[in-house]
Amino acid sequence: MPDHHRARFVVRHQAVIEDGVVTIDRGRVVGVDPYDPARHPEAIEHGDVALVPGLVNAHSHAFQRALKGRAEHLTTGRDDFWSWRTVMYGMANALTPAQLEAVSAMAFLEMARAGFTTVGEFHYLHNQPDGAPYDDPNALAHHVVRAARRIGLRIVLLRVAYGRAGFREPPNPLQRRFIEPDVYTYLGRVSALEAAWRDDPLVEIGMAPHSVRAVTDKWLWAIGEHQRVMKLPVHVHACEQRAELEACKAEYGRLPIEVLADEELLGPRVSLIHATHLDRRAVDLIAERGPTVVACPLTEANLGDGVLPARRLLQRSAHIAIGSDGQSRIDPWGELAQIENNLRLRDERRNVLARFAPEREGRRHTAEVLWPMATEHGARSLGLDCGVLARGHPADMLAIDLRDPALAGTTAETLLADLTLGASPRAVRDVWVAGEHIVRGGRHADEDAIIDGYRDAMKALVAAL
Ligand SMILES: [Zn+2]
Repeated sequence: MPDHHRARFVVRHQAVIEDGVVTIDRGRVVGVDPYDPARHPEAIEHGDVALVPGLVNAHSHAFQRALKGRAEHLTTGRDDFWSWRTVMYGMANALTPAQLEAVSAMAFLEMARAGFTTVGEFHYLHNQPDGAPYDDPNALAHHVVRAARRIGLRIVLLRVAYGRAGFREPPNPLQRRFIEPDVYTYLGRVSALEAAWRDDPLVEIGMAPHSVRAVTDKWLWAIGEHQRVMKLPVHVHACEQRAELEACKAEYGRLPIEVLADEELLGPRVSLIHATHLDRRAVDLIAERGPTVVACPLTEANLGDGVLPARRLLQRSAHIAIGSDGQSRIDPWGELAQIENNLRLRDERRNVLARFAPEREGRRHTAEVLWPMATEHGARSLGLDCGVLARGHPADMLAIDLRDPALAGTTAETLLADLTLGASPRAVRDVWVAGEHIVRGGRHADEDAIIDGYRDAMKALVAAL
C-alpha cells in the first residue's frame, strides 16, 4: 500500500506546492500532487513542514571527521593546506579498521541529521599501517560502506587510485596506506568491491584517481578505458592548490584538466573536485566535455584553497554540485550559501549568481541557481536518479521544520531562498532514504550508540598518535 505524506509545502524541482502530498510506494515516489482527500485517503499528516528531496553530498572523506578541531592552531609561522595534510596523514595512519568504522558512522550520522541522504565517499585508505594489503584488500572500504548502511544513507563508494607521491617525488611513507602497486591491481579490486555489494540497492561503486599528481597518465588512461565499459562515475581532485598546477605543468607541460581531457577522462560521468584555480582553457574544456564540478566551499574556506569561480563556470552552463569534503562543518545549507556569499564578498555585489536563473515576473532568484547544486547536480555527479521528488525517483526525502526559528514566517515564495541562504541543519526534522524513515523528530534511532562509539574510538586514536 502506498503512503501519502501530506505537508504544508512540497518542493518539486523549483516549484513549491502548497498543501501537497508525496506518495511513496516500495521506496520510490509514485506521485507528487496537491492534496486531494479523495485521492489521498488516510494521508500521514506532517503539518508545518516542507517536504524536499534529500540532499546529495558528492564529495566526502568520512575519516577526516576525526580531525575536527584538531588542526585549528598554528605550530610554525605559517599554516596552509600542506601542513594540514601532514596532520591528516598522522590520523589516517593511526586508525584501526574498527575506529575507521566508528568515525565514519559519526560523519554519516551528522550528514543524515544535516539533510544529506546520499554520500559520494572518496575512499583512499586501503592498506594496513605498514603498507601491506589486508587479506581482503577492500576490507577498509567495507567498513566505511557498513557505517553508511548502519545510518541508512545511500552511498557511492568512490574507490581511490593512488599510485605515487607525485611527479619526481620519492615515495612518501605517510601515504603507504593509500598506494597500490599498479592500475590493474587497482581495477581488479574495484571489480571485487562491486561484486561484494551488488545486491544492496543503496550501495554503488565508482572510481577515483586521487589527483593528476597521485597517478601517472597510464593509470588515467586505463581507468578511462574501464569506465567506458563499466559506465561507472569517476571523481578526481583537480586544481585545488596552485602548487598542484605548477607540478602538473612541470611534468606534462599542461594543466591537470588538459591532461584529463587528453586521457579521455573528462566527460559527463566525470566529476572534478574543487576546480578552484581555472584558466580560460580549463573553463573551455569543462564547457565542452561536460564534467560536474564538485565544490566544497566550507572545506575550501577552512583550508584556504581559494574561491570557486562559479560565475565563470555557470556562464558556460557547467554543472556544480557540493560536498562536505574534510568535514570541518557538515552543513549542506551552509555550503550553498558560501558559494554565493564568497562571490558577494569578492565582487562587493549582491545576487551574483541570480543572472543564471530563469526570469519569473521580472525577477531572477539566486536560490534557483543554488538549489540544484545540492540535489540534481549531486545525483548527476554520482550517476544516480535521486535529488528530485518526482514520480519514479527514489523516495529520498526531508521534512524541514517550518517552526524552526530560522524559517519562521517563510512562504511559498521565500522558501527556497530561506533554505539556500538562511537555514541550518537544525531545521531537518525527518529524513527518509528509499522510503526508510532514518531520522525521526530530529533523532536517529542509533544516535547515542554512534556518538559513544565515536568518543571511545577518538580516545584510543588520540592516545595512539
Ligand atoms: Zn577531497
